[in-house]
Amino acid sequence: MMRCAMQIITNNEQETGFEAQKLAKTLKNGDVLCLSGDLGAGKTVFAREIIRFLIQNEAQEVPSPTFTLVQTYETPQFPVFHYDLYRLETPEDIYELGWEDSLASGVCIIEWPSRADGLIPKPYKMVQLEMVENCPEARKITVKDIT
Ligand code: ADP
Ligand code: MG
Repeated sequence: MMRCAMQIITNNEQETGFEAQKLAKTLKNGDVLCLSGDLGAGKTVFAREIIRFLIQNEAQEVPSPTFTLVQTYETPQFPVFHYDLYRLETPEDIYELGWEDSLASGVCIIEWPSRADGLIPKPYKMVQLEMVENCPEARKITVKDIT
């Protein structure tokens, strides 16, 4: 089942960061958040602002896990596991990335969730980021609860 919880247009990266912070406030241990959208849509920007909010440090470095596939962060409340599955060769390879431990022990934020094809347990939140025609600095953000 899919329920559309929210849809908004942001006009720049800062506004996207603000939406990410709002969502971060609602996160609880065990939550799974998927970020979908094309290359450059803003998935890493969105994940970065969530992590900075949870760590309470605006200067926290949050590199894209393009090559490491997962980066772990300690926050006062729970660990956060930031995945980028773009380079995952087969969905099952996710189990080599501490996947089950991540699900059991913290919050998972997942870029390119489609690469894990069906291995992401429901319920989870899906954030879709899309470009807006003729507005290079704008993004359409849709948040859905997948149950
Ligand atoms: P992805 O992880 O989806 O490949 P990134 O988050 O790495 O994308 O990059 C998004 C790029 O788009 C950044 O360079 C960012 O500055 C730019 N950008 C422009 N407008 C926006 C916006 N409204 N929201 C988010 N990012 C934006
Ligand atoms: Mg990215």
